[in-house]
Amino acid sequence: MLDHTESNRLAEQAKKVIVGGVNSPSRSFKGVGGGNPVTMVKGDGCYLYDVDGNKYIDYLAAFGPIITGFNHPHIVKAIKKAADTGVLFGTPTEHEITFAKMLTDAIPSMDKVRFTNSGTEAVMSTIRIARAFTNRELVVKFSGAYHGHFDLVLVEAGSGPSTLGASDSAGVTNGTAQEVITVPFNQIEPYKAVMEKWGHKVAAVLVEPIIGNFGMVAPVPGFLEAVNEITHEHGALVIYDEVITNFRFHYGAAQDMLGVIPDLTAFGKSIGGGLPIGAYGGPKHIMDTVAPLGPAYQAGTMSGNPLSMQAGIACLEVLQEPGIYERMAGFAEQLRDALLSAGKKNNIPTVVNQIGGSLTVYFSERPIFNYDDAKNTDSIRFGKFFKLMLDEGINLAPSKFEAWFLTIMHTQADIDATIEAINRVFAKLD
Ligand code: PMP
Repeated sequence: MLDHTESNRLAEQAKKVIVGGVNSPSRSFKGVGGGNPVTMVKGDGCYLYDVDGNKYIDYLAAFGPIITGFNHPHIVKAIKKAADTGVLFGTPTEHEITFAKMLTDAIPSMDKVRFTNSGTEAVMSTIRIARAFTNRELVVKFSGAYHGHFDLVLVEAGSGPSTLGASDSAGVTNGTAQEVITVPFNQIEPYKAVMEKWGHKVAAVLVEPIIGNFGMVAPVPGFLEAVNEITHEHGALVIYDEVITNFRFHYGAAQDMLGVIPDLTAFGKSIGGGLPIGAYGGPKHIMDTVAPLGPAYQAGTMSGNPLSMQAGIACLEVLQEPGIYERMAGFAEQLRDALLSAGKKNNIPTVVNQIGGSLTVYFSERPIFNYDDAKNTDSIRFGKFFKLMLDEGINLAPSKFEAWFLTIMHTQADIDATIEAINRVFAKLD
């Protein structure tokens, strides 16, 4: 057993002054049967080190953003340079233009962007813009998809809220909840039926084009195309929440890999090199609805700050290196195969959804296509698996609804060590 004495001591202190001891509920171990989260002191490449001196191979990637590792020299250099030249001006800087241009060049559906400080803000802003643009109020979303922590989307929201058993958050008014309609992912008929009834009042449908929040779940062939067609038939907008999927599978957004183009897109996580970031964008005629050009207000004191901009630019520069996405996908495939064969060998029904350099392991007899499938997987076994892996020095997300993320820093030796750990852990699982 790894020694967590100091980590536990700090966790008890944290609980006295920070709600639940964590600044985001997903970091707690509530979804894996309880216990204290581990307090880390250092990240290096794909490794984390805790306060007790234990070393971990990390696949949490801070819930996605750390695609280039914890301290990539190119990004660290950019952050240091940015800090040296002033952290915040409240005026435009040239870095904002450079970064915006890198995004609009990589993602053809966008002429213009706005930077925010989080994925939540980015998604929230897209909804306001869609409502302003269409002059309609309703929003449709897919059950289990997580879009941040603003009121409207905390209805049947995946990962964090699901793990905590709070799909409808206290504090969200009934009025707000009535502005959002939730339908199952990967089934077109329920969406079609909702749009036939309410389509004339719907401003937008909010879509994670590849789900990342009840584990990684790909759209079934034709699903996204049908969503686009039906939405546009009813005069509503399609918003893609690419906060997880942006620059995760290739240099650009998932929409281009999938060949389905939304009206507006929200970004976050991987584009910021680990610093606070969000962005949203779309074609000029929609984006010009935003203040100061148009009537939809959206703002931010910290938005476009020099640190996040320069870290983001450096991060995208690193992600242009040839072959990195293929390499991450190859490693994820090796992990998938190891998990599946360990499941088979030990008679533990195991499903792995692997997409590029990301994967989710479910303890389930049946494949996972939607939120109900994911909810019906074995939570208790997942909790045991998580803790046994942690004890092997493998840091995963503490929830069956999250993903493992590869970084460009993982090596074959890390994958081999992880596979050995998987084999030992499955032999102990019941
Ligand atoms: N959308 C998706 C798809 C996400 O996964 C998340 C965060 N997990 C968000 C939005 C919210 O992003 P943030 O936590 O940066 O506010």
